Amino acid sequence: MTGSDGHFTARDRLASTVADLGLSLTPRQLDAFEMYARLLREGKREANLTALTDPIDVADKHFLDSLTVLGALPDGPLRVIDIGAGAGFPGLPLKIVRPDLDVTLLEATGKKVAWLQRTIEALRLSGVRALAARAEELAHDAAHRAEYDMAVARAVAPLAVLCELCLPFVRPGGRLIAQKTAAGATDEVPAAARAMELLGGRLVEVRPVKHQALPNRVLVVVEQTALALRDYPRRSGLPAKRPL
Ligand code: SAM
Repeated sequence: MTGSDGHFTARDRLASTVADLGLSLTPRQLDAFEMYARLLREGKREANLTALTDPIDVADKHFLDSLTVLGALPDGPLRVIDIGAGAGFPGLPLKIVRPDLDVTLLEATGKKVAWLQRTIEALRLSGVRALAARAEELAHDAAHRAEYDMAVARAVAPLAVLCELCLPFVRPGGRLIAQKTAAGATDEVPAAARAMELLGGRLVEVRPVKHQALPNRVLVVVEQTALALRDYPRRSGLPAKRPL
C-alpha cells in the first residue's frame, strides 16, 4: 500500500520490517505510527525535531530502531524513563507497542516537550508524560530518584556521561539500556568503567541488534546494583564537560 502521493508510508514500511524483530503490530498501533510520522513532519520546523524526511527513513531509523529496545525489556509493567527523548525516541514507540509500560519522557528543550505533550494527546495515550527538565536536576528530585525500573537513551551522550545522567533514576536491580553503534560501544564501554563503578552500575551485556535494516546497532545494558551516591549527577553541564 502507498500514500496518497504514491510513495510508501511510514506505516507500511514499519508493517513490513517489524516482523524481523519478532513483533507483530495491530492495525491501531500502525495507525498510531502513521499519525506520529505526520506530526513529526508537521512539527519539524517548529521544534527542530528530526533531520529525517523520507517516510522509510522515519520508519527504519526512528520507529524500528526505537523498537529494538523491546528485546532487552522484561515482560510485565515497568516504569521507564527516556533521558533526552527529543521527539520521543525511543520512549514513545515503546509506549505505543507496550501500553503496559509507564513512560516518562525527559527532555531539556521546552519546545520539544510542548510538541511531545501535543503528540501524546493526539495519539490518545495514557500512562506517558513529557517533562521539561535537565537530567542533572530531576535526578535529585525524590519523586524521580531511584524510582524507575528502566532508563533508556539514544543519541544523547557517551556511555560514561549517560551512566551519570541515567543511573541515579534507576532502582537497585533496574537497568539502563543505551542505544549505540557497535563501533561506539567498543570505544565507550571501556571508557565508562570508572563511571559505572562510581554510580553503582555493572555491565550486563552489549547486545547486537539483529535486523538487516539496522546494521551495526547494539544495546548496551547496565544494571544498577546499588543506590547512586547523592553526589551524582553533578551540576548541570558538568557530566558532559568533565566525564567521570
Ligand atoms: N533521543 C532522541 C533521539 O534519539 O532521536 C533525541 C536525541 S537528541 C540528539 C538529544 C536530546 O537530548 C536533545 O533533545 C537534548 O535537548 C536532550 N538532552 C541532552 N542533554 C540532556 C540533559 N542533561 N537532560 C535532559 N535532556 C537532555
